[in-house]
Amino acid sequence: MEQITAIVLAAGKGNRMHSEIPKQYLTLYGKPVLYYSLKCFEESPVGEIVLVAGENELDYCRTDIVDRYQFHKVRQIVPGGTERYWSVKRGLEAAAGASYVLIHDAARPCITVDMIERSIAEVKRSGACTVGMPVKDTIKLVDEQGNGMDTPPRNRLWQIQTPQSFSYDELWSAYTKMEREQAVDITDDTMIIERYLGKKTRVIEGSYYNIKITTPEDLQVAATFLKKVKKVVDTAQS
Ligand code: C5P
Repeated sequence: MEQITAIVLAAGKGNRMHSEIPKQYLTLYGKPVLYYSLKCFEESPVGEIVLVAGENELDYCRTDIVDRYQFHKVRQIVPGGTERYWSVKRGLEAAAGASYVLIHDAARPCITVDMIERSIAEVKRSGACTVGMPVKDTIKLVDEQGNGMDTPPRNRLWQIQTPQSFSYDELWSAYTKMEREQAVDITDDTMIIERYLGKKTRVIEGSYYNIKITTPEDLQVAATFLKKVKKVVDTAQS
């Protein structure tokens, strides 16, 4: 049987947030940021969820999030690694046997079921895809002294988001290769497929609302966007 598993990454420390509490556990409308992604996958066609959390937050995630909100699809909560890609690796180990995996940053609470459904349709067609959006600003490559070096054509640049969706076996084999070579500057999983399998990945439309909470001001933006994209916020306030 075809198994589609979401791997939700919540093991980051979020140093750029300058907060004691990692950003995925800060609250929005009375619920932790992580709640919103789990709720969305719970309501989607995904069959199982693997939650990757920090070693010290495993109990909190189990009791205060998964049990409390009755997220029945969360089958495993596993400790993450020091880098995002090691957290993905832990998640992949836990998701063994899946046909497809959707990897999602818990720090992106504005994910929607529609985005998940379109990602599943595309990964079944092409085997590897990510959501993203065309950039609005001009993007420059800048050297270490602050000199602009190159300005790639804006109409070819997309900002990449999550979920990122893969055939399990392909992503696993890309990770195996990556482990043998020295991994540098890895910021997402489509890169790993491109670099270590030499395969193309598809970029499909996500949403400008699907921001990643990284710095303090993002929290306010996310609160506004959440209200816009999720009916759930109305009931979450009570
Ligand atoms: O640090 P960054 O913003 O790229 O993190 C994106 C997502 O990956 C966050 O949800 C974060 O919790 C997760 N992450 C992780 N393990 C790490 C680093 C980040 O699960 N070692």
